[in-house]
Amino acid sequence: MADVTLENLMSEDRVFPPSPEFVAAANAGPEIYEEAADSEAWWMKQALDRITWYQEPTIGLNSDNAPFYKWFEDGKLNLSYNCLDRHLDTIGDKIAYHWIGEPGDTRDITYSELHKEVSKFANVLKSLGVEKGDRVAVYMGMVPELPITMLACARIGAVHSVCFGGFSSDSLADRIQDGTAKVLVTQDGSWRRGSVFPLKDYADVAVDASPTIENVVVVERAKNDISMTEGRDFWWHELMEGQSEVCEPEVMDAEDLLYILYTSGTTGKPKGIVHTQGGYLAGVMTTHSLVFDIKDDDVYWCGADIGWVTGHSYIVYGPLANGVTGVMYEGTPDTPGKDRLWQIIEDYKVTIFYTAPTAIRAFMKWGDEYPAMHDLSSLRLLGTVGEPINPEAWMWYNEHIGGGNCPIVDTWWQTETGAIMITPLPGAVTTKPGSATFPFPGIGATAVDEDGNEVGIPGGGFLALTKPWPAMLRTIYGDDQRYIDTYWSRFEGMYFPGDGVKRDDEGYFWLLGRVDDIMLIAGHNISTTEVESALVSHPSVAEAAVVGRADPVTGQAIAAFVTLRGGFEASDELLQELRNHVADTIGPIAKPKSIVFTADLPKTRSGKIMRRLLKDISENRELGDVTTLANADIVAEIANASAGGSDE
Ligand code: ATP
Ligand code: MG
Repeated sequence: MADVTLENLMSEDRVFPPSPEFVAAANAGPEIYEEAADSEAWWMKQALDRITWYQEPTIGLNSDNAPFYKWFEDGKLNLSYNCLDRHLDTIGDKIAYHWIGEPGDTRDITYSELHKEVSKFANVLKSLGVEKGDRVAVYMGMVPELPITMLACARIGAVHSVCFGGFSSDSLADRIQDGTAKVLVTQDGSWRRGSVFPLKDYADVAVDASPTIENVVVVERAKNDISMTEGRDFWWHELMEGQSEVCEPEVMDAEDLLYILYTSGTTGKPKGIVHTQGGYLAGVMTTHSLVFDIKDDDVYWCGADIGWVTGHSYIVYGPLANGVTGVMYEGTPDTPGKDRLWQIIEDYKVTIFYTAPTAIRAFMKWGDEYPAMHDLSSLRLLGTVGEPINPEAWMWYNEHIGGGNCPIVDTWWQTETGAIMITPLPGAVTTKPGSATFPFPGIGATAVDEDGNEVGIPGGGFLALTKPWPAMLRTIYGDDQRYIDTYWSRFEGMYFPGDGVKRDDEGYFWLLGRVDDIMLIAGHNISTTEVESALVSHPSVAEAAVVGRADPVTGQAIAAFVTLRGGFEASDELLQELRNHVADTIGPIAKPKSIVFTADLPKTRSGKIMRRLLKDISENRELGDVTTLANADIVAEIANASAGGSDE
């Protein structure tokens, strides 16, 4: 960003206060912000109230060696104990996961069953020589053995490094090598859109390039043909046979490593984010309970993949430690039909549903008829995470999934933050479509200018986090300097997440995407999010991405890429109409100079739009590495369409 402030183009007048019934029963009321004013004391209270410690911590935050902050450092605990053992007497027979396989097979797993499986697999890992502190790489689809593996690692103090089960061999090998993992846990194959993704074949290539791997454990799932290397590879079910169901949890220090997880790579080379035990658990339990308003009888479904942080924090550690019943679905939302998710919500009477804006825009593109096929009236709360949500996508979610009855929590956070940071509390905050509203209690966030000075309200600039928080990353694995440079060097004493933000006259936070993507048009800083949201507010548009491409006159010109909703056809008239629609909605300065219609947009494997590739295309640059893309073919298609010329 060249200048201090961001142009404020969008204004949103729609407000959604929670219903009086929701407020009356909510886990958190407005007074909680006041209670958390002394954030260190408040977090200590959360940690003591929510976690079962072997030794309770007496120290909250230690800033002696900033930015290598520590939380609860004299506490001792085990996360698998907190997720499982301590529930056995009270809710041992409660379902921990309703698991649904893509082909239609299902499995209900109670807390006590999960405890047995985890203990047995922990013993398997020990038998393979895995010790406290060793790294275990995981390359799996969404099967129950994935959380079982993570919890087994946590039980014996091993560090898991989960690599998304849609990665290529190269991406997997990079991550295994960066973490010098000793064991890899994988599957023969995973089900994806009706076919088998051959995980073991890819794993073999990665393991051949990764000498630190001593053993590979293979879950039998898709029964595809694979090769097993004698002495190195073992079947999960054979190793589990005859294992003891007793495995004493390791007593861990609060600051021992829990896991490494790589960021999704939207902006470049992924970073191995390091999370530790006590602060992380305090962060995910507290946010999970208060943001999702968790009650004993909820059926909670976070639709993310466990390969991303959302799955770590809000499918595994937060929900299990809070003892809730969760849903875990193996496959894609369009298999066998585009109503699969809504079918699951109806079948299991899901009460809370959490997904990503990219998924919501896909549902919009497919059409309203799919959710309309099912009874979604069990839902009482909805959430989103991963990207800014366009106000129209928010409205669609509210109406077609929430039936107008569910508060929506738009949660801003990162792999690095470990837990939700900016979010409504659903019984305490009036929401506005497209705004993540306010920092969570105990979290400090603000908007600053180039020099790190707070910009007033209303105003916009860089998002900065003003104080350490328990679930924060502790470093980048093996690269302390990069940790300091990336997050703590931009602004003195503050954490820099890399996102732009605007605050309205009531102080609401509106996340505006990455600061690297911000466009400079004729001397004005314009965020991609606002122009994209203006495009998505046209009835024909399902999804849009914009970038600033070099322009001799205006410095940069806005290039837009648009995916239409079902039933709409691309045409020159529509193109003009969309340009004018943007000008009418948010002003002539934001009118896209060119629009390319495309069936899809280039996305990372976590589903986020990769704007830097679109920028390369619009500036006719040689395209860099596209292997981290989920849909690499679309790039060539878009490049061709762009060359066809759709300029004004
Ligand atoms: P990399 O850091 O490798 O480029 P990434 O930032 O996409 O990858 P994640 O940690 O998965 O990896 O994503 C965090 C980012 O996602 C945030 O910094 C922000 O840009 C975006 N984000 C997440 N939730 C929201 C939200 N509710 N509103 C707006 N943006 C969000
Ligand atoms: Mg990031």
